Amino acid sequence: MNILVLNCGSSSLKFQIIETDLNLIDQNADKQYAKGVIERIGSESLIALQATGKHPFKHAAPLRDHRAALDYILRWIVSSESGIDAIRSLGDIHAVGHRVVHGAEKFTRSVVIDDEVIDGIEDCIDLAPLHNPANLKGIYAARELFGPGIPQAAVFDTSFHSTMPETSYLYAIPYQLYRRHKIRRYGFHGTSHRYVAYRYRQLTGKQREETNILTVHLGNGCSVCAVRNGNSVDTSMGLTPLEGLVMGTRSGDLDPSILEYLMHKEGMSITEVDAVLNKQSGLLGLSGLTNDMRDLLDEEREHQDRRARLAIEVFCLRVKKYLGAYLAELGGADAIVFTGGIGENSSLIRKRVTEGLEFLGIEIDEKQNNAMTGGTEGEISSKGSRIRVFVIPTNEELLIARDTLRCVKNAPRRW
Ligand code: ADP
Repeated sequence: MNILVLNCGSSSLKFQIIETDLNLIDQNADKQYAKGVIERIGSESLIALQATGKHPFKHAAPLRDHRAALDYILRWIVSSESGIDAIRSLGDIHAVGHRVVHGAEKFTRSVVIDDEVIDGIEDCIDLAPLHNPANLKGIYAARELFGPGIPQAAVFDTSFHSTMPETSYLYAIPYQLYRRHKIRRYGFHGTSHRYVAYRYRQLTGKQREETNILTVHLGNGCSVCAVRNGNSVDTSMGLTPLEGLVMGTRSGDLDPSILEYLMHKEGMSITEVDAVLNKQSGLLGLSGLTNDMRDLLDEEREHQDRRARLAIEVFCLRVKKYLGAYLAELGGADAIVFTGGIGENSSLIRKRVTEGLEFLGIEIDEKQNNAMTGGTEGEISSKGSRIRVFVIPTNEELLIARDTLRCVKNAPRRW
């Protein structure tokens, strides 16, 4: 089955076309036919599309909304210009899979989209006011352009974490607030944590129930997940993606009293404070330079920039604290898996995060660690390390494509 995977942001649309089938899932023989992104939807949009193995196509054009952007992509896909032999007409796309950010307590797994599901995603808008409306725009656009004959599925960032126990997801605030407003930890990046946990099982030959690991997603957004018997039992992001680790522009954990203090001291509104914590904090806020880890590492190395170094150190220390906390929570783990742009590419960050953890049984093999960059997958711990350490590139699109296939065929979930 050829699946169109869509990931819609407020003014962007990312896509991939992936061929997958139930027997292909076992063989890992899925094929990616094309990928691309359209940014700045609503004004002069930037378009970058690429068929696998072909030259990228870059263009700018005014695209009014997500429907216009998807229409543009679909026309390109079926045109001879794209050179995708497997897709000659829209009929060659058999299903559409959507990334949906928030499924709250309602969606604990991926589902085929019908009117009731759309209502459910709308009900979650309060919890993700920026993301869910954008995801819905993609769903409406695909419905309109493909018609009712092509099934669509929703895959939620939150659903992998639906197995967390109350003790992990409740905040210590009056319980009625949870009852009344569903204020609790939901966690995000679930598709990524789930995918790398599955790949870990494939690499090690473990069963789902034997999967006791920490998965560490370090990208622009960052989160750690504690996986027991294959299920998420705790994760560092909370009601929103602001909690937990230091991120590109998000603060992660802080004393909530800072909000009122800032409003008072800087004469800010709560909306302005929220923007500071989400958009001007993290690596960017600490360094005063950039949210980009690669650039910060360059600054530190080439110019010994003090604030770049400080930002990196605070970032690494926070990850380390979570590793310790979650290892305590799980009573030890078999492995730690790094993923995300930073986790996959930066041997230096992996080294700094795990340094000094030998007492927990974590030892990195320097050569192996240095070799793992640019999309390579494998083990980086030394032979004697009690807890194994892996680098596994994430592939959320592939998981969305496979979940979509499974939903559409009503097949059982195997990971
Ligand atoms: P997103 O969360 O937006 O998907 P990514 O997972 O692509 O982002 O991660 C982006 C981050 O990964 C950026 O901070 C970038 O600098 C960092 N990164 C990418 N390659 C490297 C590298 N070789 N060394 C250090 N950081 C890297």
